Amino acid sequence: MIKTINLQKIFKTEEVETWALNNVSIEVKQGEFVAIMGPSGCGKSTLLNILGLLDNPTGGEYYLNGMEVSKYTESQRTNLRKGVIGFVFQSFNLIDELNVYENIELPLLYMGISASERKKRVETAMERMAITHRSKHFPQQLSGGQQQRVAIARAVVANPKLILADEPTGNLDSKNGKEVMGLLSELNREGTTIVMVTHSQHDAGYADRVINLFDGQVVTEVSM
Ligand code: ADP
Repeated sequence: MIKTINLQKIFKTEEVETWALNNVSIEVKQGEFVAIMGPSGCGKSTLLNILGLLDNPTGGEYYLNGMEVSKYTESQRTNLRKGVIGFVFQSFNLIDELNVYENIELPLLYMGISASERKKRVETAMERMAITHRSKHFPQQLSGGQQQRVAIARAVVANPKLILADEPTGNLDSKNGKEVMGLLSELNREGTTIVMVTHSQHDAGYADRVINLFDGQVVTEVSM
C-alpha cells in the first residue's frame, strides 16, 4: 500500500537548511498497523504529512497503491485525500461552528455523496463511536475523549483504506486513550491499514510493527 525509497525532505530558510527526512525507505502492507516512534524533531510528522499527501518530498520516491505519487494528477491527489486516506490528529481538528453530525458529514459533502447516503453513513459512524446521543452538540461542549471519537468517526465515514494518525491519544487521559486505541485497533482488524505517530510505548503495543526514527533516518524496525 505504501512504499518509500530514499525519501528526503529539506526545509530551507534563508539561514538554515533542515534535513527533516534523510533517505527514509519504508514499506507498509495493506492491513498492517505500523507505529512510527522517535524523539521530538526526528521527522515523524513530516513523514506522516508526506504519506498523507499534505506535503511533498524534496527527493526520493513515494508509491501509494503502486503508483508514484508525483504521477498522480492534482484531482487524483485530492480524491485520495478525501476518500482513501483518513486523518486523525492529536488536536482533533474539528470545526467549532459545526455540530457533531455536521463535522462527521463534511467529508461526504466534499465527495458529493447523496443526502440519503450521507445520513446513513453518518449515523453508522456515530453509532460505532458511541456518540449518537451527542449529534447536536458542538465540539466545545464535549470532553477530549468525545472529540477524538468524533474525529475518528469523521475519518472513517468515507470508508478509507488507510488511516494516518498523529499522536491520537496525545491530548487524552489514559482511560480515553485506551478507548481510542481500542477503536483504531478494531478498525485495523477489519482491514484498515493504520500508520500512527506516537510517543507512547503503550499505544505502540497495539501496532504490528514499530519503525524508529532518529534525526530523519530509520534506525530500527521492530515487529511486535
Ligand atoms: P517530529 O514530528 O518528530 O517532532 P517534525 O517532523 O515535526 O518532527 O520535524 C522534523 C524537523 O523538521 C524539525 O527539526 C523541525 O524543526 C523541522 N520542520 C518541520 N516542519 C518545518 C517547516 N515547515 N519549516 C521548517 N522546518 C520544519
